[in-house]
Amino acid sequence: MKNITITTLGYWGIIPELYGFLNPKKFNLYKNSSSLDQIDKLREINKISPPDEIWFVGTSGSFGVKHTNLIKKWAEDIGIKTVFRFFKPKNIDDPQTSKECNYMSDLIYRVVYNASRECKGGQFILSLAGGRKTMSADLQEAANIFGCDCVIHITSYDLDDKTLKDSLKSFDFRSPFPKTTADLVTPIVSFTKIEKSSILYQPHMVEKVKSFDFDKISNENILPHSTKFYNLIEEEKRKARNFIYNYSSSIFGEKRSSNFTALYSLHPAKIEKLKMYKVGKSLKNRDKDLKILTRIPKTELHCHLGGVLDPIDMIKISLSQKKEIELYSKENIEYKRFLKEVSNLVTANDLDGLKRLIPDQKRLRTQIDGVKEPFNVLGFLSCFEGKEKLLEKYIFNDLTDEKNYFKIGINKYESLGDLQGSGMLQNEKTIRETVKILKSKVKEHNVRYLELRCSPANYTRGGLSKESVYKFIKEELEKDKFCKYSIIFIASRHGKEEGIKSHVDLASKIIDFENRGKVQLRGFDVAGDEKAKSPKQLRESFMPIMEECIKITTHAGETVEVESIWEAVYHLNAERIGHGLKLEQDKKLLHHILDRKIAIELCPSSNYQIVGYKDFIENRKDKIYPLTHYFNEGLKITINTDNPGISRTNFTKEFLKASQMVEGGISLWDIFTFVRNGVKASFLDYDNRRELLRDIEKEIVDIIDGDIILDE
Ligand SMILES: [Zn+2]
Repeated sequence: MKNITITTLGYWGIIPELYGFLNPKKFNLYKNSSSLDQIDKLREINKISPPDEIWFVGTSGSFGVKHTNLIKKWAEDIGIKTVFRFFKPKNIDDPQTSKECNYMSDLIYRVVYNASRECKGGQFILSLAGGRKTMSADLQEAANIFGCDCVIHITSYDLDDKTLKDSLKSFDFRSPFPKTTADLVTPIVSFTKIEKSSILYQPHMVEKVKSFDFDKISNENILPHSTKFYNLIEEEKRKARNFIYNYSSSIFGEKRSSNFTALYSLHPAKIEKLKMYKVGKSLKNRDKDLKILTRIPKTELHCHLGGVLDPIDMIKISLSQKKEIELYSKENIEYKRFLKEVSNLVTANDLDGLKRLIPDQKRLRTQIDGVKEPFNVLGFLSCFEGKEKLLEKYIFNDLTDEKNYFKIGINKYESLGDLQGSGMLQNEKTIRETVKILKSKVKEHNVRYLELRCSPANYTRGGLSKESVYKFIKEELEKDKFCKYSIIFIASRHGKEEGIKSHVDLASKIIDFENRGKVQLRGFDVAGDEKAKSPKQLRESFMPIMEECIKITTHAGETVEVESIWEAVYHLNAERIGHGLKLEQDKKLLHHILDRKIAIELCPSSNYQIVGYKDFIENRKDKIYPLTHYFNEGLKITINTDNPGISRTNFTKEFLKASQMVEGGISLWDIFTFVRNGVKASFLDYDNRRELLRDIEKEIVDIIDGDIILDE
């Protein structure tokens, strides 16, 4: 093991200056410097240790006998045993032609390469101390290829300072610099450890040129002219450039919408791994896939507050108001009798009896006269304490069997939510509890941004004002520090005209452009029966929304024909389309949507359950889900849950379902694209969107860096 330092040489004093930095115990040249502390720190950080050998590279005229003798004499006087070796070419005093310059580059590569091997693990330092600029550049280039422990410069503050020059020239370097000089000459470390270039430093090229005519190293070495090594390295550089060019055009040139920028700088093998790992490929891997997917930070752009609860959540909310229910029972004998009857049927597991008693779940809301909403529903649900399965069966009937929950149509699907949504969200406690449950699911599935759709004007039958409904939802969401939220109001097509107007009025009233970072209303949605009212008819009522520049998304092309998407785009200036399943029927419109970067909010489970698509894993035969088609066309696809409670899904499972509906599955790489699309298509303002993009990007890179995703 040997410590070797390579340096170029301007004048002989470079050597004591360099040595004074490398071995202060022997020769403390900078002792009087005002920046001695910093110099010591540099030594410490770079673990500088005394050199066993110092190698010089230069032109034929670089170190004449005079300078060489001065160095040798100085070393003798100081009493150091460092070996000095000189390397120069034959007859090139002042390289002018490109051929001569290439000889010099070749020589420097040879010297650096051989020194890096001679070190055998000792400290290897390069010093750019002076001499020709091209030589410093070659030395720096050699460091980038062969690696070194650090690169040192000895700098003078003012090289043109004649007094400094003269004082250095006349200085004998047998004692430390006087303070004035020491303050003007400072060693700096411009690069700490440089690793060998894994692309340019190829073992095979070293074999090819063997020892590079370097068999015998003596103290004075005049090396023959050669460009063999130089040419080899140039060839490797050319190949590397080609590789990088081809590689980047292969990943940046893909038509599919692009991914997080930081992911493109991952090692190619890692990118390949992310592209090859398909989730949901078989039921066998389900647990592992879910575990991986849960960890990925997510966005959710299409989620209805009215559909987030599962039967367990619904019972939980009803029980949180047990006291109020009991109070009602005392006041209203009919209510009490009704709940008793339900309780008896529940205890007896009498599903048919329950269905006979309440055949229409929607009617339950007003079951007993004089009972304020939502207490008919809450009272009913509270009877199911400990009987979650029975409630599930009551709500879903034969659809509790996943095999039947397929292609059931929009009306039947919506009726599955009759006991929640506006059937339930009619008092403050229920609203707050529902949002709390949503927040816990958000955290469980690492959702980083969620846009929540709701209809405050529909939650006023229990006596609340729509303003306070909005306030409760907003307040509960604001308490969450884990995830960012926006609120979207839903205008229902099949609702009365006043319903739309009521939400439009509320929106104009509460929109708050001053507090952009806060949870607030950021968008408007048109939902419900697509046949009931076309976007064209809606345009008029939506004018105030557009005047406020509130963004619009529209449920379109889910169950009715593609015209509804055209209308959403042209009449409502929709910036996103909910579902958009029929878009594949109209190539012109698809390309227009692509050009305008309008995002598509796909909801795989809901689409599967309502419309019906092929599932490659469940072996369900039907038409092909348009996801792959849209994705290949470059459309901005996002994956969402729609109504996680009704669809019996969650934020993680939706990605798995999406993958099952795609032939060959979806890769992790593509899933990151969907997440990024979610941020890009979000209704957040520009600054907050950028911040979110950065945060999620960092989290994803951290996950991949930890390699937890792929190696688990
Ligand atoms: Zn929806």
